[in-house]
Amino acid sequence: MAERTLHGTGATPRSGVGTVVWYGRDISLPDPDDVEVDPETERRRFADAVDTARAELESEREATAERVGEDEAAVFDAHIQFLEDPTIEDAVETMIADGGPAPNAVDAAFGEHIEQFEGMDGRMAERADDLRDVRDRLLRLLTDGERVGLGDLPAGSVVLAERLTPSDTAQLDPERVAGFATVTGGRTSHAAIFARSLALPAVVGIGTDLDTLEDGAEVVVDGDNGTLLVSPDDSERAAAANESGAAVVNDSVKTTDGRHVEVAANIGQPAELKPAAKRGADGVGLYRTEFLFLDRETPPSEDEQYEAIRQALDTFPDGRVVVRTLDIGGDKRIPYLDLPDEENPFLGERGIRRSLAPDSDLFATQLRALLRAAADGAGDLAIMFPLVATIEELDAALDALEAAAGLDDYDADAVDPEVGVMIETPSAAFMADELAARVDFLSIGTNDLTQYVMAADRENERVGDLHDPTHPGVLRAIQQTVTAAHAEDIWVGMCGEMAGDPDLTELLVGLGLDELSMSAVTIPEVKTAVSETSYSSASERGDRAQLAATRSEVHTTLDT
Ligand code: PEP
Ligand code: MG
Repeated sequence: MAERTLHGTGATPRSGVGTVVWYGRDISLPDPDDVEVDPETERRRFADAVDTARAELESEREATAERVGEDEAAVFDAHIQFLEDPTIEDAVETMIADGGPAPNAVDAAFGEHIEQFEGMDGRMAERADDLRDVRDRLLRLLTDGERVGLGDLPAGSVVLAERLTPSDTAQLDPERVAGFATVTGGRTSHAAIFARSLALPAVVGIGTDLDTLEDGAEVVVDGDNGTLLVSPDDSERAAAANESGAAVVNDSVKTTDGRHVEVAANIGQPAELKPAAKRGADGVGLYRTEFLFLDRETPPSEDEQYEAIRQALDTFPDGRVVVRTLDIGGDKRIPYLDLPDEENPFLGERGIRRSLAPDSDLFATQLRALLRAAADGAGDLAIMFPLVATIEELDAALDALEAAAGLDDYDADAVDPEVGVMIETPSAAFMADELAARVDFLSIGTNDLTQYVMAADRENERVGDLHDPTHPGVLRAIQQTVTAAHAEDIWVGMCGEMAGDPDLTELLVGLGLDELSMSAVTIPEVKTAVSETSYSSASERGDRAQLAATRSEVHTTLDT
């Protein structure tokens, strides 16, 4: 038995075993009463630290752009801007002039700004992470603290940190890192999403118990159970080391009776493309493009978006890449876009609603970038609109696409993308026949569809039991959507979390889904499950499941 077990939230259903390496610790501030402070020296030390930090950030930016991509590298630009922020700089200099040591002045000046951002809503709070990053970098330089390089860790390292930012996670090499665990964070934090794409064992939100672990400790990161086993015994260690999941299946898969089911990846940034391809994705079934807009100061340009989508199309030359247009709002807040404060943001201005009204310029730019990328890229582009609730919204989105296609800056003859809508609202499920008559495909977003069908906030653990797509109410909405799509001879996929649960693959194949799209981590398991499923018996089971009256009856049907 392990010496101790720490509990958090499993971010990836994987386990790994390795040796603890703390990241971003070891910063202790001088006691102002114990040090002689010469303001001139402190001011110079601060200026030198800023210069060194800028040089570090510029070189990390370059390395990240090369290794991962321009979008991931953009976060370093945001850090450089914070580093040079005149308000913060003035505050530091004033505190130094008042006799404070430079590290304490940096800590206090950044601390005020961090607190302000933390007090804000949702994603705005993420700016606080960027500020913390910059503060810690300066403090390390001013206090001679060591900071491990995340891109250069010894094989078998388990990274422990207070939190990991997107720029941190982009540096982790899944070939070398055995996993990570953080004090803060939840299943939908960036680090957790990224971990799932990289199939990296991870447990987040452990709390301050994590601080009791020291560098060099042996741990098992058990992402299935959301635990960290400290000093595991031989059998726990062996179980974690041998858990490699199902073998990767690179070919496309069919059921035992010959029905093809596409198994694709959900991604949000270019860095996730290679891991998805390595885990056998047939293509991309959901590109959450709003992720390209995070961690920066301004929206990505048309050319930057073109590059990101082009990269996806070239990664899957024989596959399809379904790009969802911007889905901003709800819990996805972009600090530099002036999102309204709403009582119920999930029921407010989000998804296609924003793209048609306040963000119509961004929408037009994005559509142009997509069409240009489709003209030049190897794979097939499909464009998908999020959170559609009415036929009028779809018509308006199609008009915007037509307007973008009318611009003469790409070879229009080479481009004929499929166009589809996400089924995420009850209205879209009820209207699936009308929608299906107007598009090339439907894709069911069960994360939102479940929250709206069950009236259960996807972020609220207290109603987590209701936010379960195996409730018959949700299954019937799925069934209705599939039937409507097939009546119009178009394909229908699923890209909510439900699609990535191998225990539900048989049910979903039985309900008639033509495509399943998921975080890369479970692609091998789902492909294996599809190839072991008989469509004819799965479809009988699917029929019985969606006729069930309760969730437990659904599960009894699945188990027998
Ligand atoms: C969904 O709602 O199921 C979906 C895939 O979209 P997101 O999780 O990005 O809202
Ligand atoms: Mg959604």
